[in-house]
Amino acid sequence: MLKNANPSRGVTNRSNSGNPNPNPSGELHAKALKAVSSSVMDPRSNPGGKKRPETASTSMPRSKETKLNNQPPPDISDTGSEETDLSSSEGDDSSWISWFCGLRGNELLCEVDEDYIQDDFNLCGLQGLVPYYDYALDMILDSDSLSGEVDGEEHSEIESAAELLYGLIHARYILTVKGLNAMHEKFKRVDFGRCPRVFCAGQPCLPVGSSDIPRNGSVKMYCPKCEDLYFPRCKYQSNMDGAYIGSTFPHLYLMTYPSAKPANPVQSYVPRVFGFKLHKSSG
Ligand SMILES: [Zn+2]
Repeated sequence: MLKNANPSRGVTNRSNSGNPNPNPSGELHAKALKAVSSSVMDPRSNPGGKKRPETASTSMPRSKETKLNNQPPPDISDTGSEETDLSSSEGDDSSWISWFCGLRGNELLCEVDEDYIQDDFNLCGLQGLVPYYDYALDMILDSDSLSGEVDGEEHSEIESAAELLYGLIHARYILTVKGLNAMHEKFKRVDFGRCPRVFCAGQPCLPVGSSDIPRNGSVKMYCPKCEDLYFPRCKYQSNMDGAYIGSTFPHLYLMTYPSAKPANPVQSYVPRVFGFKLHKSSG
């Protein structure tokens, strides 16, 4: 629901961002696809929300091809340039993973090692949660197995599935030593944003999911100082499924990197009227 409200905007944005030749029919197409995938992929409609954008670009040029197109934008210099910026910062001829992690709203995700994904043991149990599992996995790993075998509609569903699968793999990966380390780098760069609470004085936050089950709530920000949760400030981030991070991550992270835990006790705000504290009975 949450996602369905925004994606249409994301769709146009992203389809444009991925496509150096902004196609006026892109939006229409995206809407059609959205309708299709929400009816067909109902159970995944949430995580799919962010996927649809790529879906849109997929239906015109494929998302992968889109990236290729971005590298030499021969004719369009105006419209193309700013959109190309986005993708070029995502990595030029990058893998699906780095392209996906570079999309707007996906800043909370780190890049999962391909080695980790290729180890079946790490993916145990995910097959039942993700439709088109094999195709989705191939897409994530940049295998070409699906080219030519699926039509555009299926392709968009596979893209949604790939996002879901990547998110669920990501939630597991960031609990490993390598994953924690990757997230540590992001934390040090304040990629996750800062606590909005005044007395937390810009304390960097960590992402957290309220559930490990997909479509059970969007991602939230956890402040290690006040130990409270906040909505991400970026609406694109707030569309992300909390299961892509999981409920364990920030707490395991702080146990692993105790130095990241702020030592200062939390100062709290005291309401005053004319300088006097309010009596409990008054308020
Ligand atoms: Zn805080």
